[in-house]
Amino acid sequence: MIIKPLPILFSSGSMEFYIYPVLLKEESELTLIDCGYPNELYKLEEAFASIGEDMSNLKNVLITHHDHDHMGGLKELVTKYPKVKVYASEAQVPYLKGQKKSLRLEQLERIHAPKDFLDMVRSVEYIEEVTPISDHQMLPIGEGVTVLQTDGHMPGHLSFYVGENHTLITGDALVCEDGELKIADPAFVLDGEQEIESLKKLLHYQIDTMVCYHGGVYQSENLSEEIARVAEMGYSVEKSACS
Ligand SMILES: [Zn+2]
Repeated sequence: MIIKPLPILFSSGSMEFYIYPVLLKEESELTLIDCGYPNELYKLEEAFASIGEDMSNLKNVLITHHDHDHMGGLKELVTKYPKVKVYASEAQVPYLKGQKKSLRLEQLERIHAPKDFLDMVRSVEYIEEVTPISDHQMLPIGEGVTVLQTDGHMPGHLSFYVGENHTLITGDALVCEDGELKIADPAFVLDGEQEIESLKKLLHYQIDTMVCYHGGVYQSENLSEEIARVAEMGYSVEKSACS
């Protein structure tokens, strides 16, 4: 299977960074994992074009969770490309359909986040059709893509394991920052203990490469040891810094 991270530059004021939706290509079948911010579908289309692909050939979109940077562009995408089928965990489906209030919005309102951040999250539009997929389910893409529920950052958060490539698409379960593998930002983790349990679960898989939504490709010969170390450290660093 061909796995192509699609770096998308996000900028707001003086802030600039890349996010990494991932394209899986098996023969002519295209599957996208996460789809970026609201009103930025054109950036994804440009990213497809830059690698010689056409978004009108897209068949599936797998969503890791309902944060605005991961699925904010979904409504625009399925409106323009109505043949696309969208998949997410059962726990996430009601949020993607707008039947339940965004957990992130609830959190941000609780902590009185800046207005422009709230406005961004409130601008997300929801969709009607989402197919639930479950933990350990093998999706019939290539030789199989394994759904791994990695709760913590959010309930029902998913990561995806492509066994034939020994590659994990992490979503927000792990991030890569300045070339270093790290646990997801504690400010946005809704259940820290659960997050650590999810990392331990990843140790059962042979992973040589990761694609982090925040940070992009991370490779190491000792990835299992590194994940174990990140899980071991957990949030202790941040906790001690706060106390
Ligand atoms: Zn997130």
